[in-house]
Amino acid sequence: MGVKKSVKKGKKPHKNNKPSQRYKKYTLEDGKLKRAPTCPRCGPGIFLMVAKDRVYCGKCHYTEFTQNNN
Ligand SMILES: [Zn+2]
Repeated sequence: MGVKKSVKKGKKPHKNNKPSQRYKKYTLEDGKLKRAPTCPRCGPGIFLMVAKDRVYCGKCHYTEFTQNNN
């Protein structure tokens, strides 16, 4: 056994991780919690990506076309 390099032990330095983008899907409006559209297949908690003409679930690939009858 040779001399081992000294390994730092103890607490890891705190990393300031970015919060999940998931929480951006919740907004407070007039004291009420507003949720972004969620996936009907995956249930609440799984949000849909909103495009200009459709909404899409990245988890189950559910796509719903929003009708533009303007
Ligand atoms: Zn889904």
